[in-house]
Amino acid sequence: MKLSIVVPAYNEQESLSDFLKLLVRELKRVTASYEIIVVNDGSSDDTLRIAQALAAKDKHIRLVNLSRNFGKELATTAGISYATGDAVIMIDADGQHPPELIKQFVALWKDGYQVVVGVRKTNQKEGFVKRYGSKLFYHLFNATSDVTLIPGATDYRLIDKAVRDEFVKFTERNRITRGLIDWMGFKRTVIPFDAKERMAGRASYSITKLVKLTLNSFISLSIAPLYAVGAAGVLITLLSFIFGLFILIEQPILSDPLHLRITGTAMIGVLLLFLVGIIMTAQGLLALYLSHIHVQAQNRPLFIVDKQNSANL
Ligand code: UDP
Ligand code: MG
Repeated sequence: MKLSIVVPAYNEQESLSDFLKLLVRELKRVTASYEIIVVNDGSSDDTLRIAQALAAKDKHIRLVNLSRNFGKELATTAGISYATGDAVIMIDADGQHPPELIKQFVALWKDGYQVVVGVRKTNQKEGFVKRYGSKLFYHLFNATSDVTLIPGATDYRLIDKAVRDEFVKFTERNRITRGLIDWMGFKRTVIPFDAKERMAGRASYSITKLVKLTLNSFISLSIAPLYAVGAAGVLITLLSFIFGLFILIEQPILSDPLHLRITGTAMIGVLLLFLVGIIMTAQGLLALYLSHIHVQAQNRPLFIVDKQNSANL
């Protein structure tokens, strides 16, 4: 039995070496046959040099050096595509995913589970916006999509070789790795864990990145927003029809018994703004989908590996 561990790393010079030491120690307790695939995602700090030094010393450590920063999702994908083990575990390089859990991941895999997902217990330190934002996201998402996402599910997960072999067939670019794995199904279970603080530095997922991630999740896994806008359009048209009828009856026909004195210009102004807003929302949403189709149609390679600076591949 061989284990592959995929570690995406972007500007992790402070934690990478300590983290890998910890990881190796845990792995040795589980199996003698393993590979650690470090994916340097175009770091601008010393991450590459540190990883190269570690890979030179330890043949178990393989290094995939991407030619620039492709983002965590594609970095993970690159690592998975190089994995040769019977099971693949993805883990963050910043120490937030405790390597001590690997034993449990492997035990569940040996019990026959093909996907084992690390689920974060609620993180009390998270800000108000992040906490309630994610609650709202999961609620909306699960209500409108045929894929069910588990709240708190992280990228810390194990997939069987069979899942890995299917995963590498995906060609879509705007991807959420865990969303794709959830979409695939297979026999799955979860391991709850307490996420730790980062060893060093700060999370590179800013609010803007999170918003992008949320939008991408919806657009790549759900077409409900397209229908929702259509439905809203119908509803608004109906409402404005009723509203217009009410004004017609109340003012010219019944001579304003309610003394509302609505001026026609004001009404039309508000109505126009309203409808233009709706049309623009619908167009914006279409544009989002279109941009995905556009990027997909270009069909560029998902990532580019700089082989010269990689190691043990
Ligand atoms: N990461 C990456 N490419 C990026 C951003 C992050 O490979 O563009 C890696 C990072 O080094 C870490 C993992 O992805 O190992 C998780 O990133 P981070 O801790 O910044 O985000 P979190 O999910 O903890 O908020
Ligand atoms: Mg982190």
